[in-house]
Amino acid sequence: MASSSKSNDSTNSGLKDNNSDPNDEDKPELCPGFKDVDAFVKHGFGAVLSATKASASLPQAGDEFDFYRSFPGFQEFCESQGDKLLHFMSQIMQVHGCRSHLRDRNKLTGLEERFDLIVDSNDVILERVGILLDEADGVNRSQQPVMPAGFQPPKIVVSSWNRKGSGSGSRSEMFRLLHAKNVARPQLKFKEKVDNSNTPFIPKIFIKPNAVKPLPSYFTNKQIRKERPEDLDVPAALADLIHQQRTQEHVEDMFAHPYQYELDHLLLPESLLSKPEVQMYRPMDESNFSFIDTLEDLVALNEKLCKLSEFAVDLEHHSYRSFLGITSLMQISTREEDFIIDTLELRSELYILNEAFTDPAIVKVFHGADSDIEWLQRDFGLYVVRLFDTHQASRALNLARHSLDHLLTHFCNVGSDKRYQLADWRIRPLPDEMVQYARTDTHYLLYIYDCVRAQLLDFNHGQPGLLQSVWNKSKDISLKKYMKPIYTEESYLEVQRKQKRSFNTQQLTAFRLLFAWRDKLARQEDESTGYVLPTHMMIKISEELPKEPQGIIACCNPVPPLVRQQVNALHLLVQQAREMPLLKVRNDGWQQGFNISCLILKDEDSLPVAQMKARRIIESFENPFRMVSGEVINPQCCLCLMFLDTQHSTIFFNFSIYPPVMSTSTRMPSGAKKRERVPSEVGESTPKPSKKLMTPAEKPQKTEPPPEESFKPFDYSQSDLKVFAGNKSKDNTQFDPNRQTVIHIRGIFCFLVQIQTSRCVNHCVFILYRGFRHNWPKR
Ligand code: AMP
Ligand code: MN
Ligand code: ZN
Repeated sequence: MASSSKSNDSTNSGLKDNNSDPNDEDKPELCPGFKDVDAFVKHGFGAVLSATKASASLPQAGDEFDFYRSFPGFQEFCESQGDKLLHFMSQIMQVHGCRSHLRDRNKLTGLEERFDLIVDSNDVILERVGILLDEADGVNRSQQPVMPAGFQPPKIVVSSWNRKGSGSGSRSEMFRLLHAKNVARPQLKFKEKVDNSNTPFIPKIFIKPNAVKPLPSYFTNKQIRKERPEDLDVPAALADLIHQQRTQEHVEDMFAHPYQYELDHLLLPESLLSKPEVQMYRPMDESNFSFIDTLEDLVALNEKLCKLSEFAVDLEHHSYRSFLGITSLMQISTREEDFIIDTLELRSELYILNEAFTDPAIVKVFHGADSDIEWLQRDFGLYVVRLFDTHQASRALNLARHSLDHLLTHFCNVGSDKRYQLADWRIRPLPDEMVQYARTDTHYLLYIYDCVRAQLLDFNHGQPGLLQSVWNKSKDISLKKYMKPIYTEESYLEVQRKQKRSFNTQQLTAFRLLFAWRDKLARQEDESTGYVLPTHMMIKISEELPKEPQGIIACCNPVPPLVRQQVNALHLLVQQAREMPLLKVRNDGWQQGFNISCLILKDEDSLPVAQMKARRIIESFENPFRMVSGEVINPQCCLCLMFLDTQHSTIFFNFSIYPPVMSTSTRMPSGAKKRERVPSEVGESTPKPSKKLMTPAEKPQKTEPPPEESFKPFDYSQSDLKVFAGNKSKDNTQFDPNRQTVIHIRGIFCFLVQIQTSRCVNHCVFILYRGFRHNWPKR
């Protein structure tokens, strides 16, 4: 076992080269105050982290923020700080030659435009960084032509500053990044191929230690398991079908949690509910540390763990250059020692730890185990029986914050350094700093486990109830099952909806086709979808529908390698989308028909239950035409569900009906005005056509154009537009299923039925009919 005692080298401000010059002080500084790139990067990471923390602790948008904003002091402070930030950002953008009129309030109408400006500038800056990094690697990207499928070996560029062994050679030697670009793909070494097929995950387990109920034969019989169709060229539905047919009798077992029975019948012994003796941790530099990368060492570790009554576990994960993600490291700490397991090296052997991990007599302490439980199943077939999650304990204790960071400060007075959380954990050999960081994640956890148990009992006047609830919550987490991301024909809508942009039929089709392309390629190449084509680029291509392949390249900055390689295929998809019928656009830029878009300002997690329900229902109304007739027959008739949150104004629909009758600011809930767009930008949020229309093999069909209408001014004074205003009047808060309000908006007949009212949410159904008067429904 490679064992060494590590010292906590706090003076080391960067990654030290093994063979670096001992007279470091003599070298010129990289820039004032920073001796090398690593020192600079370290400082930069710290600054970004504290800024992120500070921003996360600001009052939440919505009620909380509005409340704080009612204090003039807070408002002034926000404004001055906001101006300062915008000033800094403008300066940075100017340095990089980007458009930088962020602060000029006249030039930009809203947050969205500013956000776009920043995204664009970030792209420019990152592209520059990418080019320089490539140059450091000796690759000249700018000379790489746009290639159809195929491989072009990169040219080696030797610039003055990346030439090996030149005068100031020691500096380029120092140039070692934590986000190393050329990390060998660990997948290549995996004994068992990664299964990215569009089929549900089946547990990897084939031996079940500590079983009360034996493992079903499906898992022990290797023959059945091998018959999975792994060929990605088989259409997903067919692969599913074949798979189901072959494994029909095992289906129930296949998707069950292998330790469900054991966890359901897990008893909580008295000893785990009684007050613990808090056992102080050992200083880290006095503890033994072992890096485990051989089977022999892993077996020895397992034997050691099986003799203990508790140990702490954590994982590090990599998700950028892999479709499903890869668990790259496992940290285990006992009261005496720290271990780091190279899970890339021992991926196929780690299952042996199930002996300790599923032994109910051994407590496994994690902090925030939700993802870890899934990663353990997915990559190693490991399960946890008798989990204690310190994150759950922190919640039960109602501590100020629930991060490990906070627990370390609170209980151990140890400042942890979360800068490495997002490092590339595939890097080998693991730099000392990363080892140190990884150890910190589990080293103090058993002591924290003691402390929180004691406090949970004290908190509850010695009664075990609260502690018991933490054990139960932890058990629920260990019952979590890993779910593979499954692609369906509707998947793209979830992503598109989050973008808060309205697409016309062609744009939406492009987005759908690009989404499918990206998913397929990501699975094939075993890359994350973000690596293949980041969502913001996918949106940009869909919005712009470039006519030429070069236009697609222009939408991406920097251009993802697979986009460059497959630009012709992408171009065909965009062309296909452009062939979709588009509803006629009037001369004045307003599209005929109406545009209904839903804007939900809050994240789903923070939505109250009523609003969550609202969203679910809205989602089920994705295709309003379908709701009317079951299929697309008449785009002139549309049913739409509308929710007005009268007190919070957080959910509303934005009606852009031509002409912009809704633009009267007093008529809409406060936020609605923000979404008003200039006529040329108005998108037709036409729902996805029926499956019949979507089949790519079929030619796009022409839908009947809506009948031409003559333009007649409409007397708005007779419309009851108040219904859009987030009505606060008393009588409206009473539920009256029969009450209906009718609004006429130039040829559009709005039919309002108040279906349900609670104290703070008005649920309203709008039925919008557009067309000739004789077609309007009779009341
Ligand atoms: P931790 O439990 O904090 O050690 O985190 C485990 C893994 O989760 C890390 O190796 C990252 O891959 C991932 N992770 C943690 N925090 C974040 C974050 N803020 N954003 C994205 N990934 C994260
Ligand atoms: Mn973790
Ligand atoms: Zn960790």
